Amino acid sequence: EFVFGDYVETSSEMETEEQRGCDSRTVAEKAKEGRKFLPIYAYRDELLELIEENQVLVIVGETGSGKTTQIPQYLQEVGYTKRGKIGCTQPRRVAAMSVASRVAQELGVKLGHEVGYSIRFEDCTSEKTVIKYMTDGMLLRELLIEPKLDSYSVIMIDEAHERTLCTDILFGLVKDLAMVRPDLRLIISSATLEAQKFSEYFDSALIYMIPGRRYPVEKLFSKWPEPDRLETAVRTVFQIHQTEPLGDILVFLTGQEEIETAETKLKLRMIDMGTKSSEIIICPIYSNLPTELQAKVFEPAPKGTRKVVLATNIAETSLTIDGIRYVVDPGYCKINSYNPRTGMESLLETPISKASAEQRAGRSGRTGPGKCFRLYNVKDLNATTTPEVQRANLASVVLTLKSLGIQDVFTFDFMDPPPEDALYKALELLYALGALDGKSEITKLGERMVEFPVDPMLSKMIVGSEKYKCSEEIITIAAMLSTGNSIFYRPKKQQYIADSARMIFYTENVGDHIALLRVYNSWKETNYSSQWCYENFIQSKSMRRARDIREQLAGLVRKIGVELTSNPNDLDAIKKAILAGFFPHTAKLQKDESYRRVKEPQTVYVHPSSGLFGESLSKWLVYHELVLTSREYMRHVTEMKPEWLVEIAPHYYELKDIEETRPKKTHRSSRSSTISKVDTKKKPKSQRGNKNK
Ligand code: ADP
Ligand code: MG
Repeated sequence: EFVFGDYVETSSEMETEEQRGCDSRTVAEKAKEGRKFLPIYAYRDELLELIEENQVLVIVGETGSGKTTQIPQYLQEVGYTKRGKIGCTQPRRVAAMSVASRVAQELGVKLGHEVGYSIRFEDCTSEKTVIKYMTDGMLLRELLIEPKLDSYSVIMIDEAHERTLCTDILFGLVKDLAMVRPDLRLIISSATLEAQKFSEYFDSALIYMIPGRRYPVEKLFSKWPEPDRLETAVRTVFQIHQTEPLGDILVFLTGQEEIETAETKLKLRMIDMGTKSSEIIICPIYSNLPTELQAKVFEPAPKGTRKVVLATNIAETSLTIDGIRYVVDPGYCKINSYNPRTGMESLLETPISKASAEQRAGRSGRTGPGKCFRLYNVKDLNATTTPEVQRANLASVVLTLKSLGIQDVFTFDFMDPPPEDALYKALELLYALGALDGKSEITKLGERMVEFPVDPMLSKMIVGSEKYKCSEEIITIAAMLSTGNSIFYRPKKQQYIADSARMIFYTENVGDHIALLRVYNSWKETNYSSQWCYENFIQSKSMRRARDIREQLAGLVRKIGVELTSNPNDLDAIKKAILAGFFPHTAKLQKDESYRRVKEPQTVYVHPSSGLFGESLSKWLVYHELVLTSREYMRHVTEMKPEWLVEIAPHYYELKDIEETRPKKTHRSSRSSTISKVDTKKKPKSQRGNKNK
C-alpha cells in the first residue's frame, strides 16, 4: 500500500473564509462582485498612485491575488485607456485566452470587443479593444510593426518569473523603450520572489508586494520514491476521495499525453471501485485543449461532487482555479532544451524546482486550509530552473532582433545572457538560410521571412516555394506541421485499423510531408467534413486548426507579394521547396538501417509516428525536426535526392557530402578530419574564444 509520511508544515496564520453566499445573480454580476474579495482590492489606490509616479514598477503577489485580471481594469477605471491600450503579456496561450475571457465577463463586455486577446494564429481583438492580453511572443511581433508601441499606454509583462525566452527578450526591448517613451508605464509582475533581480535589471525599479491571503497547507510526502508516477498519482486521487472531506483536487502532470493517460486510468479505476460517475468530475487543462473545453475547469463542481483537475504547469501560477483543497504533485514538468552543438531540441521531463514545489503546494491553500501530497522528496529537487534563453534555439529571436535593427546580438542587454555558442549557431543558420548577409545584417529575404510567425526554416520554406511554383502546397504543409497536435488519430484499441487507414495517404512511399498534404487536400475535397475525418482516423480539431493557420499563412504570402500558385503533381518541386528551408536537416541511410546526419556525426532514427517508420529504406531523407526521447528521432521525414542538396544549398553542401561510395574505413577517418578542419575555418573566429564570463 501507498503510505504518506506524517510530516506537517504550516505556512501562515488562519484567516476567516470569505462569505460568498448563494443567490440567483448572474455569472457576470457575481464575477463583478467577486472582484472586491480579491486580496489586491485593498491596495488598488496605492498601486495606482505608484504606477502613476513610477515609470517601471515591479509587482509581486501570490497567485490568485488578482494581478492579471485586476490591474488592467484598475488602470482602465482611472483613464489610462484614453491614452492608449493596456497590454498584458502571458507566457502561455491558454492563460491569455482564459484571463481575457474572465475580464470580459467581469466587465460585462463581449470578448474581443473592449477586452481581447491575441495569440499566434488567433487574433481576438477589434478596434474597440483597450485591454489586450497576449502571449509574450505576440508582443514581440507587435514590436516589429510598431517599434515604439505607440498605441499602448501601459505594458504589463506578467508572469515574469517564468522567464520564457520571449519574456526575456521583451525585458531588454521594453527597457530601451522606456527611455524614448517617458509616458509609457511598465509593470513587471511576478508570483515569486525573483523581484530583486527584476528591480536591479530595471535600474532599481520600485518593488511592490501585495500581501497575500494564505491558509496553512499540510504537506505530505511519499515515504519512498514511487516507480510509476502516474499510477501513484491516480491512486492518491482515490485515497483523497475516500478519506478526505469534499474539496477539489489538482493534479500536476507533464503534458497532454500524461493527462490523457491519467484521465483513462481514473475512469477505469472509478469503474473498478464502483465510484459513481456523478461523484468525480474530471477536468483536463493544457495548452492544446480546445477552447470550448477550457471554461469547464473554472465551473464549480455541483454540490456533493468533487472536481479533479488534471493540469500541466499552467495551473502553477498562470491560472487560478478556485475551490482546490488538495494538490497531488508528482514533481515533474517538461522543459525544452536545445543543444547548440548538435542543433537538437528536446522536451525533457525534469524534476521541478523548489520554488515550483512551493507554488504548487500553495494552490491548495487559497480559500481554506489545504493539503499537498508530494510524490517525491524535496531534497531531490533542483534549487532553480535555468531561464529558457539559456537552453533554447535562438534562431527565431535573433532574426526578430535583427529585424528590429539590433545589430549586435552579443551586446544585447539580456537579464541572463545565453551561451555564446547558441548565438553563433543561430547566426550561422540564419546566414545559411540567406536571412542574414556576410556582415550579419538582415537581407530582403530575411525581412520577408520575419513576416511569418514561424521558425526561420519553416518561413524560408514558405518564401522559397515561390521559385518552385508550389506555394499553395507548401503553406498547406506548413500549416499541418504547425497545429501543435497530431493529425492522425490512433486509439489504443484500433491501432491496426488506424494505421492501415493512414497508409492510404502514403502510397508510393511519399513521406510524411506529402502525406500531410494529401490528407488536407482530401479533406478539402469533402468540403471539410468532420465525418470524413472520423472515418479516416483523422483528428478533425487539428484539421480545423490547420485550416485557420493556412488561411493566415496565405494572407501573409500575399502580403509579401508572392503569388499563390499550385503545382500539385510535381512532387519533386514540393520536396525541393521543403529543402529550401530544411536543407540543414538531412540524413543518410547507414548499413545497420539507422541514419546519420549528413553534416553532423550523429546517428538518428525515423520516428515511430512516421508513416515511413519500419517501411522506408530511402537512402536520403529530409526531416522536419529532431526529438530526443528514448532515441534521437527524426519527426516528419520525406525522401529526397542528394543532388538537390548541392543544387539548392551549394554554400552548405559540397559534392563530397553527397558522394555515394564512401572510402574505406582508414581512409574515411582521415578524410572526415579534413572536413572538420574546413568547417572550423568557416566558423566565426570568436566561437572558439574565451567563454569565461
Ligand atoms: P493573479 O494574476 O494574481 O494570479 P488572477 O487575476 O489571475 O490572479 O486571478 C484572480 C481571480 O480570478 C482568481 O480568484 C481566479 O480564480 C479568478 N479567475 C481568473 N481567470 C478566471 C476564469 N477564466 N474563470 C473564472 N475565474 C477566473
Ligand atoms: Mg496572473
